[in-house]
Amino acid sequence: MKFGGTSMAGSERIRRVANIVRRQQAAGHEVAVVVSAMAGETDRLVNFCREANPLYDPAEYDVVVAAGEQVTSGLLALTLQALGCQARSWLGWQLPVHTDDAHAKARIEDIDSAALLASMAGGEIAVIPGFQGLSPAGRVTTLGRGGSDTSAVAVAAAIGADRCDIYTDVDGVYTTDPRIVAKARKLKYVTYEEMLELASVGSKVLQTRSVSLAMKEGVRVQVLSSFIDDDATPADEIPGTMIVSDEELEGHEMERQLITGIAADKNEAKIILTRVPDRPGAVATIFAPLSAANINVDMIIQNVGRDKGETDVTFTVPAADLLRAQTLLEAQKEAIGFNRIITDSKVAKVSVVGVGMRSHAGVASTMFRALADRGINIQAISTSEIKISVLIDEDETELAVRVLHTAYGMDAEGEAA
Ligand code: ADP
Ligand code: ASP
Ligand code: MG
Repeated sequence: MKFGGTSMAGSERIRRVANIVRRQQAAGHEVAVVVSAMAGETDRLVNFCREANPLYDPAEYDVVVAAGEQVTSGLLALTLQALGCQARSWLGWQLPVHTDDAHAKARIEDIDSAALLASMAGGEIAVIPGFQGLSPAGRVTTLGRGGSDTSAVAVAAAIGADRCDIYTDVDGVYTTDPRIVAKARKLKYVTYEEMLELASVGSKVLQTRSVSLAMKEGVRVQVLSSFIDDDATPADEIPGTMIVSDEELEGHEMERQLITGIAADKNEAKIILTRVPDRPGAVATIFAPLSAANINVDMIIQNVGRDKGETDVTFTVPAADLLRAQTLLEAQKEAIGFNRIITDSKVAKVSVVGVGMRSHAGVASTMFRALADRGINIQAISTSEIKISVLIDEDETELAVRVLHTAYGMDAEGEAA
């Protein structure tokens, strides 16, 4: 069971969580619980790091930000004990959760679960702070923002759990963020692949890595709400969203929707390099310094070469990396041979995702028509087998998501927009 920041925000909510956990144990399950820091706490700690030293050492940053989860894991163990349960916390270094040494975005390599399993078999509830790991050098690491989801899936895989229930502040995965579109519908099932695409294009309900890990390890993941009545049915019967394989889905749904979900991401920035020489190697010269600096390039467009053997190259990078990317490119101006660099961080990427796209034509044209009808200009397009993304003006994000939600016939009935 994993509980997110909103579910852990304060003593009252932790007591609610403890009751949900206790009920699972009472239903005969052995339970391991992964917790996030209280809502807002990680942001607060990140800010302290920035104030202390704007060019902070990621290893010390990890020491600071991992603290939020240490607090909630201890508090949940204490609260469970107050309810008469046996419970103890297992900090990342105690379990231990071995990771690589990429501080602030570490990857889990392996979890030693022997001691944990022994304690659970003895009737003790294990409470594990999410987000935390241990580097090969024995230092504290963290798994990147939203990383507690990945901690939970990794623990579930390590102990061979029957299921990994991710409790959050919404009661499942919706067709789009229910905080943006009131007519969003809850999905009963979503495939690993679709969830992976949705997470990677901006649905923050699950961290992307948690989904790829669940897919690789075959962990059964369910997303559900922790804000349920104290006397509600046990989790096995709570209608959340199950993440399933393609084959499993076919058993559940005869008629697939064309589009499963829509996601938006405002953390993108656009870079245009004008009058780049249109010859072999030019594009390689642009992207080599960016990749060397670990900057992820997402959408890329190279315009048709103009008369003088020149072309414009447009691409997007994470907004947080825009300044670094711009500096690197300016430094390579001679080598690349471009004329001007134009940047825009007021853009957003809106994506539609669905395995139904594989077998149906017209998904893209519906998207372009719906946006055009509302006067929304498309600045860049990218596609994968089950996804289409467009780059638009950031101010039009919410409108675009709503318009597309309607255009694909996904609106729930009887609710206000
Ligand atoms: P937690 O603190 O529990 O990890 P998060 O804030 O990370 O919670 O994720 C839950 C939030 O994800 C929801 O409150 C919702 O606003 C947002 N969200 C974005 N896209 C979706 C979606 N398709 N379905 C459900 N929630 C979504
Ligand atoms: N507390 C961490 C964060 O806010 C990890 C998590 O909640 O998943 O990013
Ligand atoms: Mg989260």
